[in-house]
Amino acid sequence: MAQIYDRVALIGLGLIASSLAHAMRRDGLAGEIIGTARSVETRDTARQLGFCDAITETSAEAVKDADLVVLCVPIGVMGAIAADIAPHLKEGCVLSDVGSTKRAVIDAVGPHLPKHVHFIPAHPMAGTEQSGPTSGFAELFENRWCLMTPMDANKEALATYRGFWEAMGSNVEEMDPDHHDLVCAVTSHAPHLIAYTMVGVADDLRRVTDNEVVKFSAGGFRDFTRIAASDPTMWRDVFLSNKDATLEILGRFTEELFALQRAIRQGDGDHLHEYFTRTRAIRRGIVESGQDTDAPNFGRGR
Ligand code: NAP
Repeated sequence: MAQIYDRVALIGLGLIASSLAHAMRRDGLAGEIIGTARSVETRDTARQLGFCDAITETSAEAVKDADLVVLCVPIGVMGAIAADIAPHLKEGCVLSDVGSTKRAVIDAVGPHLPKHVHFIPAHPMAGTEQSGPTSGFAELFENRWCLMTPMDANKEALATYRGFWEAMGSNVEEMDPDHHDLVCAVTSHAPHLIAYTMVGVADDLRRVTDNEVVKFSAGGFRDFTRIAASDPTMWRDVFLSNKDATLEILGRFTEELFALQRAIRQGDGDHLHEYFTRTRAIRRGIVESGQDTDAPNFGRGR
């Protein structure tokens, strides 16, 4: 495939950044990949793994002369990093991020950027419960959605950046940032919170049942434990930065849960059957749309 950017800088070198680097290498999308991370340990590991052409000590050094800069750090630190790198960004470069929420990133990053920079926030809906530079792989973004919230970005810069993600195998869709946050609250954020809660409940139970929860864990619960093993910093920031949409969805969830609770108490089998028939149809729709390529690995498309 043809090279799209001469020089790409990755700020943060965890799961998403290392996967980006592997995919860019595989597809020849970048002339040069420069990476940087907060800790010496991560920088050393990335150097050993060799998925970047150079690793710098600071973000300011990394972004020098880069045509594309991607922030691959937790959402809560993106604003501070944007302020740090802003004076060093090349005229006309694209500044993007991979954060799982978009409104908070736009509010935190946007004000720091000079006018000559094309800001294109993005969210690859792809991930695993692993983190760090050793966890990345080139196929992570294949057949996954990459949602972009470009607002009034330059059309040419946007078309090139879309092409970059498409070249890595992603399907790209543009969206309003608030709508993005609501969609992800339903499809990813609230389900993660429910998984965290379910595993927490089971952990309490485990003390009573003497390890039976672990011993007999299967199907649904095992999937919950995998999701609940996701990075605590990342998910703390997701909930804090998508508060309104997540609370809205959790409110609805609680209402539905109470309705099911009442149906069970009252022995209302018709209600339960109708409800499960409706949810089964939703599941079939997901399978038919081809978004179930990694079943039973529920939770990968975030
Ligand atoms: P990760 O594997 O944990 O890597 C995070 C990187 O950010 C590491 O290089 C880390 O540096 C750096 N970092 C952490 N705290 C920092 C701080 N306070 N200041 C500067 N750097 C810091 O995370 P990831 O899964 O790649 O996630 C990165 C971003 O992608 C997040 O915004 C997340 O919302 C988004 N995202 C994640 C997924 C997913 O499933 N994982 C999916 C879609 C989008 P050190 O290693 O040196 O500590």
